Amino acid sequence: MSDHDIDPTSPRMAPKPEVTKIAGRELKPSTLMMGHGYDPVLSEGSLKPPIFLTSTFAFPSAADGKRHFEGITGKRPGGADGLVYSRFNAPNQEILEDRLSVWDGAEDALSFSSGMTAICVLMLAYASQNDVIVHSGPLYAASEGFVAKVLAKFGVTYVDFPAGATREEIDAVLEKAQAQADEQGGKVCMVYLESPGNPTNALVDIEAVRASVDAAQLDCPIAIDNTFLGPLWQRPLDQGADIVVYSLTKYVGGHSDLVAGSIAGAKKWMDPVRMLRNTMGGICDPNTAWMLMRSLETVELRMSRAGDNAAKVCDYLAKHPKVEGLGYLGMIKDARQQDIYDRHCKGAGSTFSLLLKGGEAECFRFLDALKIAKLAVSLGGTETLASHPASMTHLSVAEGRRAELGISDNLVRISIGIEDADDLIADFEQALEAV
Ligand SMILES: *Cc1c(COP(=O)(O)O)cnc(C)c1O
Repeated sequence: MSDHDIDPTSPRMAPKPEVTKIAGRELKPSTLMMGHGYDPVLSEGSLKPPIFLTSTFAFPSAADGKRHFEGITGKRPGGADGLVYSRFNAPNQEILEDRLSVWDGAEDALSFSSGMTAICVLMLAYASQNDVIVHSGPLYAASEGFVAKVLAKFGVTYVDFPAGATREEIDAVLEKAQAQADEQGGKVCMVYLESPGNPTNALVDIEAVRASVDAAQLDCPIAIDNTFLGPLWQRPLDQGADIVVYSLTKYVGGHSDLVAGSIAGAKKWMDPVRMLRNTMGGICDPNTAWMLMRSLETVELRMSRAGDNAAKVCDYLAKHPKVEGLGYLGMIKDARQQDIYDRHCKGAGSTFSLLLKGGEAECFRFLDALKIAKLAVSLGGTETLASHPASMTHLSVAEGRRAELGISDNLVRISIGIEDADDLIADFEQALEAV
């Protein structure tokens, strides 16, 4: 026996029950991120979980193998109670999924190799031929494309409504969707939201959508892409959403060094998606899962700092004579949007749109003059990024639709990072001088 071997009969080897409460007080997510779902005793005392690079797991006995496969194939409810094969699940991904559930107050979570994989597998799990998806607009362009172009190949159609729609407007949209489903011989299979929308930051009234879906007695999940404000500033399951969707590539990963996605919600909503992920693959890889666990330890710190920075930068920008306006959730002008914000959001985030006086030429001069902020798409990283949606992320959107969505030529999208706020203001000041 070498020095590092632990005597398996020693009480030190017994897994310890996890502490989630002290003196009746529920521990907060930021505390749980350091240890939830992992016991060092099971991995030679390693404080951090090792990265489990294995494609398959040895069964203690043939009977265990059979039982695990009954769970995987749905012959027995509840899934496998042990690990089987890394396309289905593995230790790093399971710990990550446990920790992601904590942030949204969800029963279960599933990790994916990208945000888009999460979204595509989720929709495929719920949509059958001739079904109708109801969605808010605008959506992330690839999500919108998956519904309109890919699911359309299987006879799935959609009805969309603008973020900010009222209860009455949502009622009317659901009625139209139900009629469309009846005509096609399908059902309304999902209400899919994204809030705030990109790049305008228009918010969807999740509570109103919940009330409408219940009133229409639709038996379908409400899913919401919470990438822009989650997990810190918006918890949509609390407002009545059933499934919360993330591109973990953004704030959760937070360092612009990985691509991943997730969904979370009640087990009954996760199970069909887990079954399809078992079949298709698309689970996050162990190394990325490990990086995400590291990221989750600081997600509250990073998002808080980025949010504070964005408030300071927007304060400065709002007063600048070359600025026409800001699409920042900390400075909402519309009473209806403010009401949704007050009911749904705990913070204004750090991604916003900056409208310059002028058009594309002025925006390009501004972007080219930035010295700290990097000219790149994506958001939620430690570094500040700026881009021009009309000519970049939304170039493929038809001009009419762009105008409808408020994506004008004078709009710059900014994602504020965790740099020093005064340095960022100095950078924006000198870039505005160049306009
Ligand atoms: C980036 C993003 C996605 C897609 O995520 P990937 O990780 O790039 O696949 C989906 N929704 C929103 C709102 C996003 O910003």
